[in-house]
Formats: sequence, structure tokens, C-alpha cells
Amino acid sequence: MLLRENPDLVKRSQEARGDSVAAVDEALAADADRRASITSFEALRASQNAFGKTVAQAPPAEKKALVAQAQNLAAEVKAAGVVAAEAEARFTSVMRTIANPIIDGVPAGGEANFATLRTHGEIPTFDFEARDHLEIGELLGAIDMGRGAKVSGARFYFLRGIGARLEIALMNMALDHALAADFIPMITPTLVRPEIMDGTGFLGEHADEIYHLPADDLYLTGTSEVALAGYHSDEILDLTDGPLRYAGWSTCYRREAGSGGKDTRGIIRVHQFNKLEMFTYVLPENAETEHLRLVALQENMLQALGLSYRVIDVAAGDLGSSAARKYDIEAWVPTQNAYRELTSTSNCTTYQARRLDIRYRTETGKTAPVATLNGTLATTRWIVAILETHQQADGSVRVPEALRPYLGGLEVLTPIR
Ligand code: AMP
Repeated sequence: MLLRENPDLVKRSQEARGDSVAAVDEALAADADRRASITSFEALRASQNAFGKTVAQAPPAEKKALVAQAQNLAAEVKAAGVVAAEAEARFTSVMRTIANPIIDGVPAGGEANFATLRTHGEIPTFDFEARDHLEIGELLGAIDMGRGAKVSGARFYFLRGIGARLEIALMNMALDHALAADFIPMITPTLVRPEIMDGTGFLGEHADEIYHLPADDLYLTGTSEVALAGYHSDEILDLTDGPLRYAGWSTCYRREAGSGGKDTRGIIRVHQFNKLEMFTYVLPENAETEHLRLVALQENMLQALGLSYRVIDVAAGDLGSSAARKYDIEAWVPTQNAYRELTSTSNCTTYQARRLDIRYRTETGKTAPVATLNGTLATTRWIVAILETHQQADGSVRVPEALRPYLGGLEVLTPIR
């Protein structure tokens, strides 16, 4: 166990994340307690078994006294069992407060402390006043926020006409990229049991960002990562032929509880959107290579769409509990004069697999947890960057060449009013 083998590494990770370093010592103490209590429970049980044999073989005259002693011993075993169970529960509960140890090189600090790894593409410029994605979406008859609010409330919308077609085109293009890279396409459940939601690490400090249906005790997923991680829960996987790779298409639901007044215009931050998500089960020693592969696939997709972007190494304090490293790709959104996140890819190392009990068989025949990774291949939010980047003076939008086959060859989206 990493905690016991290298507590300093776990402490450094906690510090870089801005989390409690003392929790590591608490966990070590709880671990020592737990192991000591299990040892004394097992020793008592062994002597109980041995004593049981003595009682069985004893002459009838001595039996009565011995049986009384055996009863005392049984009570002691029972009490030691309770102590051991309590110590185990204490250990589990402290361990749950410790996030996945970060990978060496992840920048320390919070949201603003990311490191930019590279940028790609020119920042687009316009010789007319650029419109924002909502203005363009309304000219095209593609986005209807007003009726979204009427039907469902703030942060809901309708994609209509070319807007709906654009989203389906984008998702199909993403799916083709995933298929070419050997991912198995999946359409996943979007309602999951609490243990699956918890196993993926989503019920920690950010639990209030998730919709819960108490009548059924099911959670609405904010990403198909949850269902795809649960897919192989409680299984021993055969990874001898390479990683298992899935591409999950799902609607994603987010309460956006902490977002307050952020991104209230248009579809950049909404309660419901679609996403094609890559998910990999891989041997732990190959996880970092797989992570780079996922980023490369994301970059291919963004480049095919003619978007300008930067790749960032997200700082420790902004990783969430399950990721040991996370690369985000942010595309340039002209009217915001800023890069905005379009993809995120996380190496969760063995964190989710340990909680969901997903293992592989090592060369010695023992089992060990696998590593899991996930990464975005396209979302509804990509429409924002596409519309703004490829807009023209008359409100029309050039369709990136690679997307045209998915829109029946359409080269330009033209305003309907
Ligand atoms: P995450 O799973 O939080 O890393 O997000 C993955 C991707 O989903 C982001 O890069 C966005 O493209 C998209 N996304 C996340 N939250 C929202 C939201 N509230 N509205 C629209 N798109 C979102």
C-alpha cells in the first residue's frame, strides 16, 4: 500500500493539492490500529479453535468447567471482532478524505496555477465586429435559449434546425475518430447507483453538483465516465492483448451549483449537454503513455475542426479527488478574448479501480488494481468555438472541411433571418 510504503509522497501530494497533510498521519495511525486489532482478533480466534478441541477431548468430569471457559473465550472473540470492524471502518473513512496522489511534475496550487504545455493555431482575427455564439446561433435559427428557459429554466436550451444537425454531425465525427483509434462505441445508462457514483470519486466534496433522484436512490451522471467505470466493476480483466477502450455517448447532467453568475449567456455552461467520452482500462505501468495518446486524439479532433487551442497541465488543487494528472485543452473563443475548456483528460491511476474493485492478474498470479483514464472527444460546448471561429461578416459560418461529410456536404451555414 502506497500510504505505508511512501507516506512522504502522499503528504507532498496533499500539500500540492492544498489538502490536509495531517490526514496522512491519521490514516497511518488508523492503519496501524486496524492491523493490530485484526492480529489480536485472529490470535484469539486461533486459541478459541484450539481450546474447542481440548474441550471435545476432555473427560466428562472436566467438561463443565471447560465449557464455561470456552464461553468466556467466545465472548472475547466477539468483542475483538467488533473492535477490528470499527478500526477498519475508521481507516476507510480517513482514507476517503485523501485524494489520489498526484503524478510527479503536476504543478502545485489551485485553478490559476496550471502550466501551459503548448499552443496551436493562430488567434483568429476579423475585419468586422465578431458576433458571439448566441447571436450567431439565433441568426442561424440554431439555438433557442428563451424557450429552453420557458420549458425547463435557466441554463436550458433548444438546439433546433442546423443547430441540432451540427451537434449530431460533431458527435458522429468524434465517434469516427474514436473508432479509428480502436475504441468500442457505447451508449451508456445516465442513471447510476450510489456505489458506482461514489466509486468513481464523484460523491466527495463536489456531491452538490450532481442531480440525485431520492425516490429511486439513483444519480444522474455528469459524464459517461461514471457508467463506463462501473461497467467492469467487481471484475478481473484480461489486458494481455492491450487496454480496453470504450467511447461513451451520453447526455450529461450538471447542477452547476457553485457556478453562480458564471457563463449565463448561451450554451457554454448548461445543465444538460451531450458528450462523447473516451474511457480506458490499462495496466498501471502503461497509464501515462495512454494519457498522452488520449490528448493526441483530442488534438487531432480540434485541429480537424480548425480551432486554435492551448493544452494545459492542470494544477494539483484543481484535479478533483480521482485524477492524479489532468490535461485540459482550451479553445480560443474570440468574443471572450480567452481560451475556454473544451476537453479534459484525466489519468485516475488505480484510484477508481481500487474503489470499484477492478483488477487484472499479474505474472505471479496475484491480482492488482488496473488504471483507468478518461477524456472528452466532443461536447455541445464545442459548437461555441466552431461558430465563433468560423463566422463571416454576414452572420454565416464556414463549415470546417472535415465536418462537411457529416452535414451532407454543406459548406456554409446561412442565417435564416
Ligand atoms: P469535465 O467532465 O468536467 O472535465 O468536462 C468535460 C467537458 O464537458 C468540458 O471540457 C466541456 O466541454 C463540457 N462541459 C462541462 N461542463 C459543462 C456545462 N455545464 N455545460 C456545457 N458543457 C460542459
